[in-house]
Amino acid sequence: MTSLEDLPIRDDLRGKKAYGAPQLDVPYALNTNENPYPPSDRLVKALGEAVMDVAGSLNRYPDRDAVALREDLAAFLDADTPGAGLTAGRVWAANGSNEIIQQILQAFGGPGRTALGFEPSYSMHPIITEVSGTRWIDAHRDEDFGLEPGRAVAAVAEHRPDVVFLTSPNNPTGTALPLETIEAVLDAAPGMVVVDEAYGEFRREGTPSALTLLEGHPRLIVTRTMSKAFAMAGTRLGYLAADPAVIEALLLVRLPYHLSAVTQAVARTALAFREELLGTVDALRAERDALVGWLRGEGFAVADSDANFVLFGTFPDRRQVWQSLLIRGVLIREVGPPEWLRVSVGTPDEMAAFRNALKESR
Ligand SMILES: *Cc1c(COP(=O)(O)O)cnc(C)c1O
Repeated sequence: MTSLEDLPIRDDLRGKKAYGAPQLDVPYALNTNENPYPPSDRLVKALGEAVMDVAGSLNRYPDRDAVALREDLAAFLDADTPGAGLTAGRVWAANGSNEIIQQILQAFGGPGRTALGFEPSYSMHPIITEVSGTRWIDAHRDEDFGLEPGRAVAAVAEHRPDVVFLTSPNNPTGTALPLETIEAVLDAAPGMVVVDEAYGEFRREGTPSALTLLEGHPRLIVTRTMSKAFAMAGTRLGYLAADPAVIEALLLVRLPYHLSAVTQAVARTALAFREELLGTVDALRAERDALVGWLRGEGFAVADSDANFVLFGTFPDRRQVWQSLLIRGVLIREVGPPEWLRVSVGTPDEMAAFRNALKESR
């Protein structure tokens, strides 16, 4: 039997564990922040037809630059954030925003370079950073999981990273950043600033998107995904908006034909159904706000959330609570600061199951 240890693997990968949010078959999966609502029959049919349409030419490579899809994404973002002035030349797409992040690090990170993030935050930022040969610098969020501009600027000024990650709304805390923090980091950072807005569509009224800062900030990249609010996690489609020069840089590192013809067709169909797909966002936000209120009423500490999940605690032994919920068919996520747990916002039925299981588990 050969083990991993026997292989001539890169020294910096030795001893590392693969990303492993448990994928268990449970009645209530509230662990990966998916949108719980499946596509309608009408959309399922349209998706099938879109795949049929490209099936006859799958002997050919797809559009390498996914121009039609990028035009659709630009139109969608422009409607989402009026005035951002987005066109296909300022938008890029890949297989999930994780691949977008990987391409950013391949182009702007690498051996001898650094990327800095403010933790607790998205666990894949340091993982993709290190796999790209970039050194990760772990800065910290404030006590309340926010990020005061002065502290953010001090961390950036001290380390002068090549890439800064700001996640807003942040995973796993749900915290959105005010634009003044993002602007302060943009002014202080010597390199690229990535604002990961995977949960952007869930933000509360009055919380602006970093898309509004693109004009005049050529080193800003705003990333989005169809995996969360857009209810298309299975499609694997992430995208970004940035200066056209940034996209030129990413063209140097992307694999040719990285987005399959099937992916492009499915994503475009989903975008054409955006009203249906995003039609669940308001219900999920209301469910989130109700969940925050309920948890607080039960005496838990709860972080304010602008996303479709809630971080709550505190538990001297969170593993035990996590397990007790799992026994009751409810899978949530053991992630973030050690005494906290994260639960995704699901359907009213799923939330009722979660509340009951939690009451029995305390
Ligand atoms: C879920 C998530 C992503 C990405 O997901 P993809 O499915 O790869 O698009 C990116 N950033 C954050 C903060 C996330 O939580």
